[in-house]
Amino acid sequence: MRKVVKFGGSSLASAKQFKKVGEIIRADEERKYVIPSAPGKRHMHDTKVTDMLYECYSLAEQDKNFDVELKQIRLRFEEIITGLDLALSLDQEFAEIARRFKDKAGKEYAASRGEYLNSIIMAQYLGFPFVDAAEVVLFDENGRFMADATDKLLGERLAALDAAVIPGFYGAQADGTVKTFSRGGSDITGSIVAKAVHADVYENWTDVSGFLIADPRIIDRPEGIETITYRELRELSYMGATVLHEEAIFPVRKEGIPINIRNTNSPDDKGTWIVESTCQKSRYTITGIAGKRGFCSINIEKDMMNSEVGFGRRVLQVFEENGISFEHMPSGIDTLTVFVHQDEFIDKEQKVVAGLHRLTRPDSIDIESDLALIAVVGRGMRATRGTAGRIFSALAHANVNVKMIDQGSSELNIIIGVSDSDFEAAIKAIYDIFVIAQL
Ligand code: ASP
Repeated sequence: MRKVVKFGGSSLASAKQFKKVGEIIRADEERKYVIPSAPGKRHMHDTKVTDMLYECYSLAEQDKNFDVELKQIRLRFEEIITGLDLALSLDQEFAEIARRFKDKAGKEYAASRGEYLNSIIMAQYLGFPFVDAAEVVLFDENGRFMADATDKLLGERLAALDAAVIPGFYGAQADGTVKTFSRGGSDITGSIVAKAVHADVYENWTDVSGFLIADPRIIDRPEGIETITYRELRELSYMGATVLHEEAIFPVRKEGIPINIRNTNSPDDKGTWIVESTCQKSRYTITGIAGKRGFCSINIEKDMMNSEVGFGRRVLQVFEENGISFEHMPSGIDTLTVFVHQDEFIDKEQKVVAGLHRLTRPDSIDIESDLALIAVVGRGMRATRGTAGRIFSALAHANVNVKMIDQGSSELNIIIGVSDSDFEAAIKAIYDIFVIAQL
């Protein structure tokens, strides 16, 4: 067995956290390839090192003095080194960073130094070789990640090493220019490494014990999700469940490598398994509930619209011309409703209405704001009768007025539109009927 282990920023924010990570790695000799993030927050009001680096570099970019800011960053690392009793000097690294900041090496170079330095410390702490991501994670001249070339190079390089520490979040172009993934991108690096070494599992260690059935800010101590498929996860993360970077599933998914989300602060918890497919039934009919607020619906009415060829296309053309993407589009015989993000729509509202009048000649247009969408997701729904019935009777009992229902033909999810003011009550009602009532 070969495991790739990625540790998030809060798992590596201090020497105390590093020690927990060391114990986790040493407890299982299959944990051979380690991907660290930059030090995150030590407490709620702390600042992530990545943010400190962005801040510091913005001074350098404006030709302002950044000595104090860089020193503060250095202190974060020194505190870890001292706490771990390591004989490691970062003099050379910081001299180089200061020089390259002055040369305006770029914002992405700056941001990447958090992962770079943390990985040097981790490699020394574990006694593992350090492999700089800039040498093995490749980007093309347009700044696009080169998946195949990276997979080949990384695979060859790591085949020669039976253990390694590889910094997350960044790579480089052929000319050495450092590029980063989007924020939270160390998750992606972990997945890329897992694919390249044909790992049996990609363990992603963070500060929660995996995915929860519902948002803990709405449901008091919700149950965790033991196993979730990639497709279910896509649905839930799109609707706001954020534990893992959205793009991190793609490299391992292609190889059928499962991801195990684990908690550094509670290493005995099994966490959540993310898998391609499973015959394991989820404990409840549903796997998870997630939701997003801040939607508008634009309801277009026109007699006989369903026999007018091209009507739907013309409606969507108006949204496209205004650069607005739509979320859902339920329709009736003489009505069609388009759900959009309120913040994308609000400034262009009157232009859209005028466009719809011009292109579709409707009988009426009606706009409603402050709506929320809730996704009830579960691979178990397909095989269970009455799921939709249970959801809607629970919502009716909770006095929630359902404004829209959309069930994909995959029967993997049911999307429900409600008023923003009913958002939390609706999630509670659904959680109660599927989880609490089953306990
Ligand atoms: N350190 C980077 C960030 O804060 C990347 C990561 O942690 O995954 O976004």
